[in-house]
Amino acid sequence: MSTTDPRSIRISSDLLPADGRFGCGPSKVRPEQMAALADAGATLMGTSHRQAPVKNLVGSLRAGLTDLFSLPDGWEIVLGNGGSTVFWDVATFGLIESRSQHLVFGEFSSKFAEAAGAAPHLGQPTVIKCDPGAHPAAVAEAGIDSYAFTHNETSTGVMMPLVRPTGVDGDALVIVDATSASGGLLWNPADVDVYYFAPQKCFASDGGLWVAACSPKAIERINRIAASKRWTPASLDLKIALDNSVANQTYNTPALATLVMFEAQVRWMNEIGGLVACNGRSKKSSDILYTWAESRPWANPFVADPAMRSHVVGTIDLTAPADGGVDANDVCAALRANGVVDTDSYRKLGRNQLRVGMFPAVDPDDVSALTACIDVVVDALRG
Ligand SMILES: *Cc1c(COP(=O)(O)O)cnc(C)c1O
Repeated sequence: MSTTDPRSIRISSDLLPADGRFGCGPSKVRPEQMAALADAGATLMGTSHRQAPVKNLVGSLRAGLTDLFSLPDGWEIVLGNGGSTVFWDVATFGLIESRSQHLVFGEFSSKFAEAAGAAPHLGQPTVIKCDPGAHPAAVAEAGIDSYAFTHNETSTGVMMPLVRPTGVDGDALVIVDATSASGGLLWNPADVDVYYFAPQKCFASDGGLWVAACSPKAIERINRIAASKRWTPASLDLKIALDNSVANQTYNTPALATLVMFEAQVRWMNEIGGLVACNGRSKKSSDILYTWAESRPWANPFVADPAMRSHVVGTIDLTAPADGGVDANDVCAALRANGVVDTDSYRKLGRNQLRVGMFPAVDPDDVSALTACIDVVVDALRG
């Protein structure tokens, strides 16, 4: 066992990444986004969200996301306050008609299933579950009007392909939690009806907002449920959010700084080549991370199936101290003492693991530098 205080380990500055933020949300904010915020400081910040300057910003954001996802005509970008967690409640009121099916393969995917299961106005959902480290497959089922997927399970580093299950009711919606995937992973709008997320992951902004790209079929559902007069708290009412969003507004006051940084990131993503280029950066970063982990005797990618290994959130198991390895918490503490932060695993998963955010804002060269830093730290800890 090592007796070295991890915080005393020094990594030479030529090995350090240019930017040491590897969190999975909040995540690295690019300096250009902070500059956009400073620019907006004198004109936009502190002004009304009901007036043209902020409405134009929201309009630009909605148009930029429509471009980024290549959304067909009739889709709408809907937004509101509260983040993805609040969207689960929004969807429970405004998207699920009577029964949903949920694929559960980690902490985040379990939450929407719980919300639907607890709603007194809905039937009991079907939950298809598997152990952390993989994802289950959806099964067409009579009476299911909403299929709930998670594009990237942030707690485990598993991504799943978005494919509309065959044989489902023509009216059924595919509703996807894309909180950590959106902007970093590829998807086809033909296979999805609602793609929802928050801006603090691939979009490198702050939290507190939810965004949902909605297909024409989803909009029909929203309108139908609203017409049915189901009781819905106004702050969770998707029809109210939709009506405000198409007018480039939100139901209540949004955080303007979040919108400014979000919009700047979407513009950058479209400038560098859109979703394909963004996924290319994350894919390059994750190839670096997984190849490195496979080459170290004391490290291994947690996700066994290479096809399920996320491009945006990498999970790396370390050999336990008892077996000649090191404590992942010590590695994180040593990295943090050197300005390389938020490489911690998802606590409830309970593994001796590192978790690395590799969103498009992260430079693949910095992921490479991170692996060199981990090598130094592990050497030092093993003495
Ligand atoms: C981060 C995350 C959430 C929660 O997002 P909030 O905006 O904090 O509510 C939900 N789902 C997934 C997959 C996430 O990664």
